Amino acid sequence: MRRTLIAGNWKMNGLRADGVALATALAEKVGAGDGPDCDWLVCPPAQILLPVGEALGDSGIALGAQDCHSAEAGAHTGDIGAGMLRDVGCSTVIVGHSERRVDHGEGDELVKAKAGAAQAAGLTALVCVGETEAQRVAGQTLEVLARQVTGSMPALASSLVVAYEPVWAIGTGKVATPDDVAEAHGHIRGLLAKIFGEAAAAELRILYGGSVKPDNAADLLALEDVDGALVGGASLKAEDFWAIGQASPGP
Ligand code: PEP
Repeated sequence: MRRTLIAGNWKMNGLRADGVALATALAEKVGAGDGPDCDWLVCPPAQILLPVGEALGDSGIALGAQDCHSAEAGAHTGDIGAGMLRDVGCSTVIVGHSERRVDHGEGDELVKAKAGAAQAAGLTALVCVGETEAQRVAGQTLEVLARQVTGSMPALASSLVVAYEPVWAIGTGKVATPDDVAEAHGHIRGLLAKIFGEAAAAELRILYGGSVKPDNAADLLALEDVDGALVGGASLKAEDFWAIGQASPGP
């Protein structure tokens, strides 16, 4: 049984007051307990992890980060280790987001090392994969996914979530069609089965990300191999993020 996960990636947005206000609004809605039967996660920027975690309180919304270093500690100015994220209350860290793959030149090997470091620190690694527009147009989507999934997965399936995020759909308002999403997710699950075995792969959650909004969430979340959403822009508005969760098909 894979429980739907609605995850928000706040990216580089929000001062402390903004993050606390957003977390407080979400905590009120989710904490009331009459919402959809799904898991919630928010990933604010690193400088407000602590106050956002405090504002989430015991609402049931988990706290995550957007990246970690592959090393435990040491001379890595400006970076944050997975153990440090755990120390401030994170349960999860996103690794391999396309914005990091592009902005920081992160490849599969590094993403895999980061995911491993996250798991070693007791965090769930939320590993992102997805093809660019050019790769899609060239008909290389499945091949790119095979390379990224094979190259980026950490050792353990037990504390892992995978997100399929077509790069061309992130922040653009363009959404992959349900057929495209279904094909990509089925392909990813097949690849995960080769890595971790059929039984473990059947338990793994695969999220879709890329311009998920309240008005398209239900169609996407209803797909068989879609186990939740990784939401960027729409996670910055409590009403929209909540509405996406409302579209969850339940357990
Ligand atoms: C993301 O950043 O992971 C994302 C999916 O962004 P958006 O929802 O804005 O496309």
